[in-house]
Amino acid sequence: MDKILDKIRKANLVGRGGAGFSVAKKWSAVAEALADKEVGGRKCYVVCNAAEGEPGLTKDGYILENYAEKVIAGLKIAIDFFLAEKGYLFLNYSYNKKYNKKLAALIKDSAIEIFVKPIQSGYVGGEESAVLNAIEGKRIEPRLKPPFPVTAGLWGCPTLVNNVETFYNISLVNSGQYDNKRFYDIAGDCPYEGVYELPASFTIEKTLKQTKNYPSFHFFVLVGGDMSGEALNSRQLKRPVEGAGSITIYSLAKNNYKKIIAGWLDFFIDESCGQCTPCREGIYRLREIFLAEKADWTLFNNLLDNLADTSFCALGSSVVIPIKSFMENVLPEMEAKSKAM
Ligand code: SF4
Repeated sequence: MDKILDKIRKANLVGRGGAGFSVAKKWSAVAEALADKEVGGRKCYVVCNAAEGEPGLTKDGYILENYAEKVIAGLKIAIDFFLAEKGYLFLNYSYNKKYNKKLAALIKDSAIEIFVKPIQSGYVGGEESAVLNAIEGKRIEPRLKPPFPVTAGLWGCPTLVNNVETFYNISLVNSGQYDNKRFYDIAGDCPYEGVYELPASFTIEKTLKQTKNYPSFHFFVLVGGDMSGEALNSRQLKRPVEGAGSITIYSLAKNNYKKIIAGWLDFFIDESCGQCTPCREGIYRLREIFLAEKADWTLFNNLLDNLADTSFCALGSSVVIPIKSFMENVLPEMEAKSKAM
């Protein structure tokens, strides 16, 4: 069974939930925690995170729709590898509604249980430590890290949390079918929105061209997340797609950038769990400054830096990525264009 870890290592698998962390390193960390004699005798758990809560992201749903048996196979491989007590399939409400029957049939007579993400837990309810709290029946909010779930996850036991696409890839690696592809979620001002499985080495430009979505108008893209991604101008597309694999295209002529950014801020305000002040108060204040008649940009930037440095979990620091990158990569280009007109 050690062979699967070697295969994962050789395939250079990275997690597809957004962080892009090495799968082999994560698995090894769980194995090491289980082997630790000082805290030996602990149980182990495996969680497949299918919370996918960022608006516009649908690739995990697409995988569950088309390749559910491979996802479950990957989950079973992990359970066997770690001799885990139990596996959880953490499903968001709509995926449970759509796929419960099919998934229930696939996990029949196994150690896997479907756990439906409480609908009121919002986007942050999909953060890995919040997922653990939900399963344990605790208040659904992120935990302080460290300790990380690999050493102290469910009920204090080593716990592997991987995303749907990652388990799909594990089953491909195990059967020798993995060929370094990933799923891309393409949306926005383009003719062929959808989920595409293409080589992971593709640049953003190549992905847009291959799917016939490369715009013929002035545009920018948000890459890696539909709210938490990086904003790039059209000259910055010769790099791979990071994060959760999404590309959202915005026409510069069609969209009002103030509305777009206010929309990002509204999303993060709505989804903040309120546990820490920088996020709970900070994003609200950012919105206030941003929409003021005369914005104080120094204060705005200071607040952004503060959020990046002091937020308790990745939701608070995520808001900084689209806004800062938009200011650096897109706004100067928009201003130059409007001056030239
Ligand atoms: S950063 Fe936001 S979502 Fe994360 S713990 Fe703090 S308040 Fe909650």
